[in-house]
Parts: sequence; C-alpha cells; structure tokens
Amino acid sequence: MDISANLNNVRQRIAGACARAGRQAGSVTLLTVSKGHPAETVCAAAAEGLTLFGENRVQEARVKIGQCPGRLQWHLIGHLQSNKCRDAVHFFAMIQSVDSLALALEINKWAEKSARTMPVLIEVNVAGESSKFGYAPDRVLGELKQLNALSKIEVHGLMTVAPYAPDPEKVRPVFRRLRELKGQCEDILGAPLAHLSMGMSGDFEVAVEEGATMIRLGSALLGPRVAPKPPAGEA
Ligand SMILES: *Cc1c(COP(=O)(O)O)cnc(C)c1O
Repeated sequence: MDISANLNNVRQRIAGACARAGRQAGSVTLLTVSKGHPAETVCAAAAEGLTLFGENRVQEARVKIGQCPGRLQWHLIGHLQSNKCRDAVHFFAMIQSVDSLALALEINKWAEKSARTMPVLIEVNVAGESSKFGYAPDRVLGELKQLNALSKIEVHGLMTVAPYAPDPEKVRPVFRRLRELKGQCEDILGAPLAHLSMGMSGDFEVAVEEGATMIRLGSALLGPRVAPKPPAGEA
C-alpha cells in the first residue's frame, strides 16, 4: 500500500473541493482512520507526516496507541459504552461520538477524576438510520445547553456518518443539514463551534464543499482493512 501516493491524491482532491467552495485548503483537518490496521501501518502513515488518527473501538485503540509514537493524537470516532469511558478519557484527545446526555455525564465524571477537560463532538444521525448511533437533530437542539454546561466537557462541534451511497452527490443534503444544525447550535450557545466532522473515503469531496472542517479517511489513505473480530463471547 503506497500511503505516500494515496496522501498526494487525497490532498489534491481536498484542494480541488476547497477551490470549488472558495475555501482555504488549510481549513480542512485530515484525520486518518486506522481501525482494522496494525500499529505498523500507523507508523508508516506517521512517517508521511500524518499525526491525527481515529479509532472506533476503545479496546483496539488502547493496545495500538501503546505501540505507536507518543506524539500522535487520537480521536474516538465510534460508539462509546459507559463502561469504557474511563479508558476513553485516558487515551483520546477528543471523543467525536457523544450520542446521549447519559454518556456525556459519564465522560464528564471520568474527566473530573482525571483532572482534565475532554473536548467532544456531538454525533448526529442526520438521516435517522436505525442502524446508526447518534442524536436526532431536534434532540441535539434540546439537550445542547445541558451538554455544554458539564464542567469537564468542551463541545467543539458536530460529527456525522452519512448513509452509504455509491454516488456521493446523494448525501450532499445530509452534510448541508449538519452545517445548518451547527449554525442553530451556535445561535443557542451564542458562541462559534469549531468543528464539523463529516466526510469519509467515499464522500469527502462533497463534505468539504459543504463545509467540513475535519474529514475522516480510512481506506483512501491506508487501503482495505481487516474486518473487526466480534468481541469475546459475542461470536
Ligand atoms: C471507518 C470509519 C471512517 C472511515 O471510513 P473509510 O470509508 O475507510 O474512509 C470514518 N468515520 C467513522 C466514524 C468510521 O467508523
């Protein structure tokens, strides 16, 4: 897998999407999704200058993080169970997958015990897919003030995973809706939110055109991944 060539290709496509949208190419942060890839692949990506990595399972991440250079930053991008909050607060620089007030309370509790503040994004299930985690858009607006009031949590923005579509144009309305929702959240808070985390390998150009500040790319950078093993006891 030629990560260097993939990265060049991705950078050009980000620059193209930014140009079409009248945005600065530097306004998009690239997060490399390393789930399903071993630590050696992360090290190879780090050697290309990539420094921000995303994992969707705490268990897999904590082993991998221990095997990778300490200067790298890690974000949790998958659903978090309350019994993993302690580790999540310990290992991640940001939790992008806050999908309930109960979870936020638990993260807040462990952040307090660790004497740190935890940057988070609120995950939104824009399309209302039953197979996906995330807040319904209306519910975000209803609970935002309570989430933001938690003393050890900093809400930095919104995250979404768009439905799979062979033609990424089909999910443009999903990205647009998340951008609008961010605006509504900013009105409620009376303050700007830094991040719109949206766009994956199959749809990131459309996401950038619609205002993504962070895109999460796995296969476009690192190639195909090994399917995750089911957790022990859940074959
Ligand atoms: C796996 C994953 C990605 C990356 O997917 P690719 O299609 O490989 O780019 C991005 N975001 C989340 C939340 C993921 O779980």
